[in-house]
Amino acid sequence: PFDVLIVGGGPAGAAAAVYAARKGIRTGIASERFGGQVLDTLGIENFVSVKETEGPKFALALEEHVRHYDVDIMNLQRAKALKAGSDLIEIELENGAALKARSVILSTGARWRQVGVPGEAEYRNKGVAYCPHCDGPLFKGKRVAVIGGGNSGVEAAIDLAGIVAHVTLIEFADQLRADAVLQRKLASLPNVTTILNAQTTEVTGDGQKVNGLRYKDRVSGEQQHVELEGVFVQIGLVPNTEWLKGTLELSRHGEIVVDAKGQTSVPGVFAAGDATTTPYKQIIIAAGDGAKAALGAFDHLIRSSAP
Ligand code: FAD
Repeated sequence: PFDVLIVGGGPAGAAAAVYAARKGIRTGIASERFGGQVLDTLGIENFVSVKETEGPKFALALEEHVRHYDVDIMNLQRAKALKAGSDLIEIELENGAALKARSVILSTGARWRQVGVPGEAEYRNKGVAYCPHCDGPLFKGKRVAVIGGGNSGVEAAIDLAGIVAHVTLIEFADQLRADAVLQRKLASLPNVTTILNAQTTEVTGDGQKVNGLRYKDRVSGEQQHVELEGVFVQIGLVPNTEWLKGTLELSRHGEIVVDAKGQTSVPGVFAAGDATTTPYKQIIIAAGDGAKAALGAFDHLIRSSAP
């Protein structure tokens, strides 16, 4: 069996693998797509010490760093179940195989919920963005829309209003769902327009990049078009934890509940990164979280039965 088996090969899983392998213990990492969300990222400018890089380049660097150590890398493997026995923990893969380990680190990440309208996928990274902390500065002095009036949408609108020329907040319902304090702050900003009862129907562009957003006014039924350069989609981040339901404690958003050392509700099972309750979903945070979970797992191993 593995001493540490990591499920998920994004920044969190890669960092966990490096930290575990450096303890000289038997380490494996199984993932569907090594690199994770970073593979879908164009530019990365906020991983401190790396002023500027591209997502696929960063993903390759993660894999090279892990390969530098004695780690069993199992790519294109999707986990479908976790079984915690009295001694070993078992991870069942979609292909029917089962991997056994003395400790497990879950780092399966998350995915942004999409609006699912024409233009959204086509203009991804060409004006359509999902992460204001990451891509906000790219729209300095430009006009953007934020789709979604929950806490993350309103936070994004407030954040972006300080950088961009103008923000149009688009909400489907007849009122915003964000906390009152955020709504008050939003209302105080001169360069934000909020549109309620608006169903986004299309992200428009010139073939190269975004030039606007079309929505249906759900009261009048009329189609409207807003001219702008960027669209931030903020309708939810979904953790890749569906396969864990019923086996360990998840938050009401489906995030794996972890303590300060990355320990989950199941002894010997740790978790890190976007899949967990750790706040602020960022590469540097996921990587730090992965390192922490590996150290937590090592701590657990040296305290449990003989090696
Ligand atoms: P992920 O990167 O999501 O990796 C999850 C891993 O688990 C993948 O290998 C996946 O294939 C695997 N996996 C999932 N389910 C299973 C399963 N059942 N079995 C096996 N493997 C599984 N952050 C920044 O800091 N700066 C940026 O500039 C930035 N830009 C971004 C741009 C975009 C378009 C996106 C989508 C995100 C961006 N982020 C950025 C956020 C950042 O990418 C994430 O916070 C980070 O990748 C989270 O790392 P993670 O390891 O927790 O999860």
